[in-house]
Amino acid sequence: SKVLVTGANGFVAAWVIRTLLEKGYKVRGTIRSEGKGVHLKKIFADHGDKFELIIVEDITKDGAFDEAIKGVDAIAHTASPFQLAADDPQELITPAVNGTVSILKSALTASTLKRFILLSSTAAVISLLPDPKPFTESDWNEQSIEDVKVNGKNANQVNKYCASKTLAEKAAWELYNANKAKLSWDLVVLNPPYIFGPIIHEVSSPAALNTSSGDWYNSVVRPDMGGKPLDQIALVGNAWIDIRDVALAHVLALQKEKAGGERLIILEGDFSYQDFIDAANALSPSPIPSHTDMPKGNPAAGKILKPIFPYDASKAPKLLGPELVYHTKEETTRDTLADFERRGW
Ligand code: NDP
Repeated sequence: SKVLVTGANGFVAAWVIRTLLEKGYKVRGTIRSEGKGVHLKKIFADHGDKFELIIVEDITKDGAFDEAIKGVDAIAHTASPFQLAADDPQELITPAVNGTVSILKSALTASTLKRFILLSSTAAVISLLPDPKPFTESDWNEQSIEDVKVNGKNANQVNKYCASKTLAEKAAWELYNANKAKLSWDLVVLNPPYIFGPIIHEVSSPAALNTSSGDWYNSVVRPDMGGKPLDQIALVGNAWIDIRDVALAHVLALQKEKAGGERLIILEGDFSYQDFIDAANALSPSPIPSHTDMPKGNPAAGKILKPIFPYDASKAPKLLGPELVYHTKEETTRDTLADFERRGW
């Protein structure tokens, strides 16, 4: 069967496509312009005509995806801006919400479609609470929407992104719930936190990395370049998941009947960047022999931190099945550093 993956040239989408192709699916990817497909065509050349690309110039336009969805059995919508330096929050919110609404509206008319996967985020789940309790799929990040509504351009940068993800996911459920009685397909939403791991999409230099990979690089490999004082790195953390597990979760979310209609938080656990620095220094032999100045930070300091965003993420493994075994920090660190080393970073 054939799956449409939007934003094909992104960090997450490239891995989703690779995993789908390896599992025998055909894939049609959307990109904004011809040039963004050159690298993808190269890395997926072995799959011949099982991989194709289609250009969707402006995802926010009504009907933008009408052509792209023709004949597909499933959709994974990942195209959405993830950056934390927007001035006007609408730079993030408009493409996130309108892109999601636009592709869902096209999907309403699709007859062959069986499943729609929306890549949301824990950004749409969490909020800063004085006394955090484990977040679950029933939580929504209303705080970010409120901040953006009240403060506009002066809202917290992270909240601007969180609001874009929350509003987009809410719009998706609203449209789906209003129409589901007459649909041939169901909606599955995946909510991962920070995603780390080796990269396969096109990136020319560390400075051009996607936000989560760039953050990991600037914290674990070259904190000197990221401008973060080493003694503070231990304190910067969140929850995380390996990119390959996110990709596999997409495939499982397509395959598992009972995942239909569900919102699923997928994550390995908490991290502080110090944990990854410790994991990197413990690797033997070093996966980055050319790197003689591997930072040490403040060894083990990350272990005593209480997570600011605790989760109960037990629902997803139950619905997605035993195939979903999350990578550990050690595995992700080893493979990511080996990838960076190969690139001479
Ligand atoms: P990337 O920046 O690598 O990929 C973003 C993708 O979305 C690119 O294909 C990009 O295309 C496309 N895109 C961005 N803005 C627009 C726009 N205005 N119109 C059309 N397409 C657009 O980031 P990720 O792969 O990390 O992000 C992909 C998805 O994963 C996002 O929905 C993000 O919210 C979600 N996510 C990511 C996490 C992470 O830690 N990385 C965590 C949780 C969720 P182009 O190159 O043309 O700009």
